[in-house]
Amino acid sequence: LFGYVGIEAVLDQMRRKTMKAGFEFNIMVVGQSGLGKSTLVNTLFKSKVSRKSCTPNYEEKISKTVKLHSISHIIEEKGVKMKLTVIDTPGFGDQINNENCWEPIVKCVNEQYEKYLREELHVNRKRRIPDTRVHCCIYFLPATGHRLRPIDIEFMKRLGKIVSIVPVIAKADTLTIDERLEFKERIRQDLAANGICVYPQREYDEDPDEHILNERIRESIPFAVVGTDKEHQVNGNKVLGRKTKWGIIEVENVAHCEFANLRDLLIRSHLQDLKDVTHNIHYETYRVRRLNESNM
Ligand code: GDP
Ligand code: MG
Repeated sequence: LFGYVGIEAVLDQMRRKTMKAGFEFNIMVVGQSGLGKSTLVNTLFKSKVSRKSCTPNYEEKISKTVKLHSISHIIEEKGVKMKLTVIDTPGFGDQINNENCWEPIVKCVNEQYEKYLREELHVNRKRRIPDTRVHCCIYFLPATGHRLRPIDIEFMKRLGKIVSIVPVIAKADTLTIDERLEFKERIRQDLAANGICVYPQREYDEDPDEHILNERIRESIPFAVVGTDKEHQVNGNKVLGRKTKWGIIEVENVAHCEFANLRDLLIRSHLQDLKDVTHNIHYETYRVRRLNESNM
C-alpha cells in the first residue's frame, strides 16, 4: 500500500473524543394539553427519560398562560453519553383567547441564542460552550382530520424562522389509515400555501444524496404518531403498544403508525444535522442580526 498515510484514523480519534465528551441535544415539545407530548418523549427515549432521573433545570412562568419547563437527562448507550434536555411548554393553546401565545416560546428560543452569543463574545471563552439552544421543536397537531387551524399556522410561521420545526399528528390511532393520509396531504398543502418552512428545509440540502433522502421525508410529513407507556404481548413478543377497539397498535411497527419514522429522523439519521442547522442557520441569523444592531 505504497503512499498510504493513514488519514482515515482520524475517524477513530473523532469517535473517541465524542465518546469522552458526550454531546447535548435539546428538544422542545409544543401543543395543547393532553395531546400526548410527555408520553411521546418517553416513548422516544424508551422511558429512559423517567421521572426518577429528572433534575429540573428551570421552571419559568413567563406569562400567565404558557409555562416553560426544562428537564435534562443523561442517556448512555454503548459508551456514548447524550445529555438530553426536553423543554415542555404546558399551557400552550389551552386558552379561549390564544392571541400571542407563541411569544413566550419565541422569547425562550431567542434567550438560548443570546446566552450562547454572550459566551462566544467573552474575552476568555470556555473551551466548550454549554449548548442550551433548541435543536428541534416538535409541534403536535390534534388529529382532527380537518386542516391546520389558525393557531397552528401562526405558531409555525413565526417559529419556523428561528428553529427547526417537526410537525406531528398526535394520537394518530384515533384516525383510520385513510383519514390519516388525507389529513397529512391537506396539512402539506396548508404548510405550502402559508409559506411555512418545516424541517428538513429544501434550501439546506447539502448534496444530491441528502436531497433524495430529505425529499422522501418531506413527502411523508407530518408523521402520524402514537405514543405509549405500556408493553403488550404480540405473538409472544413484548412490544410497545396501545389497545384500541381495532386491536393493539404497535407503536414501533411502521405498518401501524409513523412513530419509527419520527424516531429515525430525530435520533438515528438527522440528530447531527439538526444541531448543524441550529448552529449554522438559525443561530447564525440571530448572531448577525444582534451584531448589526449593536454596531449601529
Ligand atoms: P401532554 O399533556 O401533551 O403531555 O399529554 P400526556 O402525554 O400527558 O397524555 C395525555 C393522555 O393521552 C394520557 O392519558 C395518555 O395516556 C394519552 N395518550 C398519550 N399518547 C397517546 C396516543 O398516541 N394515543 C392515544 N389514544 N392516547 C394517548
Ligand atoms: Mg405533559
